[in-house]
Amino acid sequence: MSITNWSLRAKEADLCVRNFINGEFVDCHGDQLITKYSPRDGSVLYEYAVGSSDDVDEAVSSAKHAFDDGRWQGKTVHERKAILQTLWNLIDKSREELALLECLDVGKPITYALHADVPQALSFLQSAIDNAGKLQSACGQDGSWFAYQQRKPVGVVGAIMGWNFPLSGAVLKMGPALVMGNSLVIKPSEFSSLSTSRLAALAVEAGVPPGVFNVVHGAGITVGAALAQHSEINLLNFTGSTATGKQMMIAAGKSNMKRLMLECGGKSPYIVFDDCPEDLDYIARDVVESITYNQGEVCVAGSRLLVQASIKDKLLPKILEHVAKIKPGDPLNAETTFGAIINESQMNKVLGYIKSGKQEAKLIFGGNRVQIDTNHTGNQGYYIEPTIFDLVEPQHKIAQEEIFGPVLSILTFKDEEEAIRIANSTCYGLAAYVATQNAGRIQRMGQRLNTGYLQILSSSKPSRGGVEISHEPQCQSGFGSEIGMGALMSYSISTTVHLKT
Ligand code: NAD
Repeated sequence: MSITNWSLRAKEADLCVRNFINGEFVDCHGDQLITKYSPRDGSVLYEYAVGSSDDVDEAVSSAKHAFDDGRWQGKTVHERKAILQTLWNLIDKSREELALLECLDVGKPITYALHADVPQALSFLQSAIDNAGKLQSACGQDGSWFAYQQRKPVGVVGAIMGWNFPLSGAVLKMGPALVMGNSLVIKPSEFSSLSTSRLAALAVEAGVPPGVFNVVHGAGITVGAALAQHSEINLLNFTGSTATGKQMMIAAGKSNMKRLMLECGGKSPYIVFDDCPEDLDYIARDVVESITYNQGEVCVAGSRLLVQASIKDKLLPKILEHVAKIKPGDPLNAETTFGAIINESQMNKVLGYIKSGKQEAKLIFGGNRVQIDTNHTGNQGYYIEPTIFDLVEPQHKIAQEEIFGPVLSILTFKDEEEAIRIANSTCYGLAAYVATQNAGRIQRMGQRLNTGYLQILSSSKPSRGGVEISHEPQCQSGFGSEIGMGALMSYSISTTVHLKT
């Protein structure tokens, strides 16, 4: 069995960032350069022009032209599915190349990029392909009237991306958008620009007509803002912070009142009740994984542990035992399970929250930047230890604000009522995790927690499979469904036809 030398592959990788418009790679414009530093060692990884509204105009015009002349929406669902299935095969063949780009850009462990991120992208695409054509429309009749609802693509979809899952995040949007016949312009985050243009090129290679899938790179305030304000964009799908999400609402209102899907921040509670004591070891491992996966840079990370006071003394030692096994390491090392933070600014933001946490609560694990000289050149990457605070109060800054890093806040509660009150005490409503074996409580949690996604842990048996039902964020985590049949609804509009027979 051959073992991939990822460091060598990284040296040979093509790290050129170019826009992809009308089926071709073209240079980004703009007077200034964006410099991307490597999360793993802080060296310059690549540079490209900051982008301009001209780039956006060109990409949107290409997408609109492709939509209007019917080269994609005019195909049958069967034809679109066949082309996207070819794209699936091309992504599958490019697994290692795409995983390497994700690892270098984000600082995530290569093993996870290869065995989690790329498979996740493939599964998102397969789901969109499988669901295509299954959208049921309402119809009815009364006397001489017959009516039915006709669903059709929205038109030109703009997508603005966050940086934590660049490939799977792009496929999550691209799959249902293209299956429904739309044209697309994606702006990746300026901090993780590598994989999206490659994805668009693979799409054209698979047979997606030029102009249907375009990529524009650049800064949020130039390229992102130009997309959000563009009057030829019919639907804007945004993934990023709640603060920027609010800007999207303003931009939509000031321009053409475009449709919006907002996938924003979270501060998800992980609630552990005292009715599942035999599962505590499993729960402790899951709690740690929930805040350390992808270095805690996950919108749905379980960043607040709410533990019932009566069980805390049993759970806490197990959590500390599990977290002690997690050591930051070089993302290119296949043994690494916890990599680097995306950039210096995000690392400093996380360290700032740790500083604030030390003033408010009790630091019981980690809390430090770690120096790792991956290349033996003196260059240091952006590594932080997994960090845990105990005795956190609901009003503390580290219990209220999204840190987007590996920092867990532990809070205690007496009973179910208090757990719900604390869980709902932030402005977010993205995800929640509840460990309980009480069926009535499961129902009440679903009813009362502010969350679009609720995961119940009632058994420590290994889980297999997964059910794909749409969910959407609540509160200031956003709105709009990206998964399953709900995504096909999101990327389409309807005309209701009333027929007098
Ligand atoms: P961010 O809001 O800083 O940036 C997100 C995107 O918006 C980037 O592409 C950026 O260039 C662009 N942007 C920034 N300012 C803009 C402006 N004024 N106009 C238009 N575009 C602009 O967020 P981030 O730091 O890149 O990502 C982290 C955030 O993303 C976290 O809050 C995380 O929870 C969230 N996120 C949410 C989900 C979800 O599905 N809910 C998924 C991943 C990440």
